[in-house]
Amino acid sequence: MPEKKKIWLAVNDRHSIHHVRERGYVESPVRVKSILKELDKSGLFRTGKVREYTDRHILEVHDSNYFNYFKKVSQTIPKGQSVYPYVFPIRYATRAPKDLSVRAGYYCFDTFTPLNQDAFLAARRGVNCALSAADELLAGTRYAYVLTRPPGHHTERSVFGGFCYFNNCAIAAHYLSKHGRVAILDIDYHHGNGQQQIFYGRKDILTLSIHGHPSFAYPYFSGFEEEKGEGDGLGYNYNFPLPEKVTHEQYARILTRALNIIKKQSTDYLIVALGLDPAKGDPTGTWSFTYSDFAANGAMTGSLKLPTLVIQEGGYRNQSLGVNARAFFTGLHGAHNGKQILK
Ligand SMILES: [Zn+2]
Repeated sequence: MPEKKKIWLAVNDRHSIHHVRERGYVESPVRVKSILKELDKSGLFRTGKVREYTDRHILEVHDSNYFNYFKKVSQTIPKGQSVYPYVFPIRYATRAPKDLSVRAGYYCFDTFTPLNQDAFLAARRGVNCALSAADELLAGTRYAYVLTRPPGHHTERSVFGGFCYFNNCAIAAHYLSKHGRVAILDIDYHHGNGQQQIFYGRKDILTLSIHGHPSFAYPYFSGFEEEKGEGDGLGYNYNFPLPEKVTHEQYARILTRALNIIKKQSTDYLIVALGLDPAKGDPTGTWSFTYSDFAANGAMTGSLKLPTLVIQEGGYRNQSLGVNARAFFTGLHGAHNGKQILK
């Protein structure tokens, strides 16, 4: 295959320093290794160059108090140690606590996403990967993939959680929105609450998420169908919460609806938040997708024929992560039967 036709790939070369061994350990370095092993076999990818970007791009999406806190606390926690958020301002949120470890809960919404030196460095590098890929799209590349961890889609403007620290999809989407209309399609098993919250009042960035219903699936408090955006953004956020058990046929109907919305909105750039946790046997999900289902999802998405940036989010069954990722990209790149599926 000619190099130019291959999928541009950035792997976060700092991901493995972020290694949580306590609560949150399923989000582990072996995930990237498992995926990479299969991608190497596919011959579909070319490795791209990751450039440096200033903090400005993060600060246009995330709250500066949160960013500065995360940076500062990561420098003060001794190497090898983590701070777990443990007290949360569900009321009286007017003041951030002075003590840095107590303050963790001021910017977080769960108790299993720790702060430490390496989380910041790995997440910060992930942002450079996402922005480099966005620039590739602007330069005319059709498909780019950012294989990174920690993931990002649960991080809102000023709160982190769900193993996520910086919302890579949102940062790339905001960057691309200066050049055209952007859609973020989140196909992780869990609701993409981060980009929903960040772009809730904007109409130039469409957000869609297909996920396990919040009545039983993390993050529990968002992802309902009636969350449609507000102000200028009303009608530009779509949630498709699905039951605990779904067949791929049911799922494909919903994905088709989502893709048709993206098409109707004259989208110029598509960002896919790729979760592999809809897979059979995933410890965080309840669905049972196989590699052929992921291939179909890829093909359907590819049938849009849009410049597409895929960013890695969740997926925790290490034995099948690689095969499922490879299947998705084979479908996306080939888009052989996507056209028939997408009417
Ligand atoms: Zn997930």
